[in-house]
Amino acid sequence: MEFGFTREQMMFKKEVIKFAKKEIVPRVEEHELSGTFDMESFRKMGEFGLLGMHFPEEYGGQGADVVTTVLAGEALGEAGVDGGLTLSYGAHTFLCADTIFCHGTEAQKKKYVPRLARGEIVGCMGLTEPDAGSDVASLKTTAEKKGDRYVLNGSKMFITNGPLADVALVYAKTDPAKRHEGISAFIVEKGTRGFSTGNPLKKMGCRTSATSELFFQDCEIPAENMVGKEGHGFLMAMQTVEWDRSALLAPMVGVAKYVLEKSADYANKRVQFGKTIGEFQATRHKLANIRIFYEAARLLVYRIAWFKSQGKPLNHLAAAVAKLFVGDWSLGPVNDAILIHGGYGYCHEYIMEGVFRDNRLAPLGGGTSDIQKMIISRMM
Ligand SMILES: Cc1cc2nc3c(=O)[nH]c(=O)nc-3n(C[C@H](O)[C@H](O)[C@H](O)COP(=O)(O)OP(=O)(O)OC[C@H]3O[C@@H](n4cnc5c(N)ncnc54)[C@H](O)[C@@H]3O)c2cc1C
Repeated sequence: MEFGFTREQMMFKKEVIKFAKKEIVPRVEEHELSGTFDMESFRKMGEFGLLGMHFPEEYGGQGADVVTTVLAGEALGEAGVDGGLTLSYGAHTFLCADTIFCHGTEAQKKKYVPRLARGEIVGCMGLTEPDAGSDVASLKTTAEKKGDRYVLNGSKMFITNGPLADVALVYAKTDPAKRHEGISAFIVEKGTRGFSTGNPLKKMGCRTSATSELFFQDCEIPAENMVGKEGHGFLMAMQTVEWDRSALLAPMVGVAKYVLEKSADYANKRVQFGKTIGEFQATRHKLANIRIFYEAARLLVYRIAWFKSQGKPLNHLAAAVAKLFVGDWSLGPVNDAILIHGGYGYCHEYIMEGVFRDNRLAPLGGGTSDIQKMIISRMM
């Protein structure tokens, strides 16, 4: 087993950090305070090649391997990019574009994937509904076949990039009598009659990521907009779990390093009782806690990337452990970082409070910690 990265991978990671520090990080504060999506940075990420680097060049990507792709996400977090933008990047790239790339027809791939990869258009993925979250198989949105069209009716809830998306990958029941086996996936373009979105939801964290409802009222789409086979939607959604538990978690690993560096720096400068606070054991233990989380989270996340890069089937236990650990345990280290910063840690300009609010999503989104524990306990 390899535990190291190649020289090229490490050089690429440095390049991403450099790019993000120059082009994105200076704009984070403005968008955090206004709670707005940073479209300019998103487009620049597309130009840099971050929004679909694992796709082959003919589909707008760079043919990057899985580990390099995950490293890019880690680099964004390490540079100090906020959790809202990395959430939007993840939903766009891995939940929307990648599903079209993996399961779409050649015509669908050519039409959407290169533009998504270049950041010319924004994508979202709609699975969750007002009454179907953890139990997604109970979703109620229907897609009824009428001649050469499908007619969609229903709504989606908490959809990342919903208010901005040009392309929505939507899961709906083609056979409402069935649960998992009755779900299929469809591409719905912005502007399609009968398709609308709600206002951006006001959230605790990830405020720069726009989240909304999606509404479908007698929304007619061409039958060729179905992605993958009829009834395979649930399986397709579950296949995104590998990216969800690696590339989507990777920015949080990077953020842990960012928080550690900022906290160590502060601890070495802040003087109380005639000493830097970094000389007190209580502070050093907090720094150690952050380091322990960073090291363990990194191993768990790259284990999933490694499985995927080896073409191995998804290891559900490892995926659930990674999601649960990074999600649940990420709050403790950020709490320690806030305490190291004292009163400043509670204030916006020292960033830590924003990281805390952003990280609060991790035990919830994409499968709650309760659900991960359910999966883990089933495998014992
Ligand atoms: C900011 C944000 C962005 C999101 N982005 C997207 C997106 O882009 N696309 C998308 O489709 N969805 C998205 N989601 C939805 C997210 O995946 C769901 O919120 C999540 O799966 C939980 O579903 P729920 O909110 O309906 O909670 P529920 O499923 O109603 O859960 C409520 C509580 O009950 C617990 N619970 C439920 N079932 C069980 C059980 N069997 N055993 C024990 N406890 C249980 C849960 O753990 C939780 O504590 C997003 C959510 C947020 C907040």
